[in-house]
Amino acid sequence: MNIKQLLQNETQPIVIFGASVVGREVYDRCLSVGISASAFCDDQKLDQYKGVNVFSLNVIKKRYPEAVFIVATTNANDALHKITEMGNYKWILAGLILNDQENFPCITDFYNYSEMEAQIIDRCIESHSFHNDKENLFATSIDLLVTERCSLKCLDCCNLMQYFQNPQDISIDEIKKNLKLIVHYFDSVHELRVIGGEALLHRNFAEILQLSAGFININKILVYTNGTIVPARRKLEALALPNVVLAITDYGPISHNLDKLCEKCERYQIRYYITKAEEWVFCSSIKKHNRSMKENTKLFRSCCANNTFTVSNGKLYRCPFIANAVRLCAIEEAKDDRIDFDSLNMLYKEKCEAKRVINDFLYNRDFFPACDYCEGRPYGKITIKPAIQTKRPLDFDKF
Ligand code: SF4
Ligand code: SF4
Repeated sequence: MNIKQLLQNETQPIVIFGASVVGREVYDRCLSVGISASAFCDDQKLDQYKGVNVFSLNVIKKRYPEAVFIVATTNANDALHKITEMGNYKWILAGLILNDQENFPCITDFYNYSEMEAQIIDRCIESHSFHNDKENLFATSIDLLVTERCSLKCLDCCNLMQYFQNPQDISIDEIKKNLKLIVHYFDSVHELRVIGGEALLHRNFAEILQLSAGFININKILVYTNGTIVPARRKLEALALPNVVLAITDYGPISHNLDKLCEKCERYQIRYYITKAEEWVFCSSIKKHNRSMKENTKLFRSCCANNTFTVSNGKLYRCPFIANAVRLCAIEEAKDDRIDFDSLNMLYKEKCEAKRVINDFLYNRDFFPACDYCEGRPYGKITIKPAIQTKRPLDFDKF
């Protein structure tokens, strides 16, 4: 029996876990073949979609003690952890439905989706196709740190740029080495996110993109920028490469080159989208909290950045906070905070063994020692005004 038949014969209510664009797309496709979901489950988007209620996890648990979940969030492991904590529910992954054109034909004109929404759907489908794959190592996204320099100095930068006294570009040799390590170990990276600071400031930016775009196991390259820089021709030509997307954050008046940048994107046929910075969670202080293991596990599980894998200095970290706190020497780097690619090479003769170690690091941890220095980034936490500028770098304690 295929998924369509299973769902059509299902007697328990169907709940879609995640009410974002993926959840809505899977709802529409199921409905078009006579499968009707009873509710959405989402702690962030409490509303309705086409008359179907969106409930929080707690409400779902009470209303639907038995249900079948369609997991419509990219990080299936996180979702499944929450679902199995609630009870013994059945589940399937939305990516398998969205990838099944024969049984669940696409009814939405994909041109109706914004560039960002199309990216989210695409990312979820690929991520789910690798779920539980024991042989291939997959990452939905990897952040490649290319510079500590930024044209803005945000007081609450979650990547900790406000602390660098003498920010530097990462050398092109180190970036090349990091890229080669990524493609050596990962069979597929859905998106490589080129980040800083302000990535467009890197003097070898064009070379970094050309190199990254040449690896077949890197599906897409996302470049983050803050709307203050209009890059020169060579950098614009690199941004126009077919698998590159420019993600522009609009910080209001301080993104003073936003219009000019968009004009250049149109002229050079660069794929781009703009996200308005609306609210930030305060998460940029670095201090030891001495939390219990249980408290750190809770902090980590609710953190919206707990899957922002980051490569810096030949090492793989769980998020940019840890990578940059180490670069700043603001925390002592614990062995469990990272994978050191060089020592992997020495320790494991077979690549498949090294891949298993990386897989365990990425998908089987309750928290990392460095999380105890972090405020965490839970959904629903009180928000602060984004991008308040500081004139001088902030002080911090070196360990
Ligand atoms: S624009 Fe602000 S938030 Fe973004 S990297 Fe620069 S300092 Fe950080
Ligand atoms: S809680 Fe842990 S995973 Fe989340 S941002 Fe902080 S250090 Fe990174």
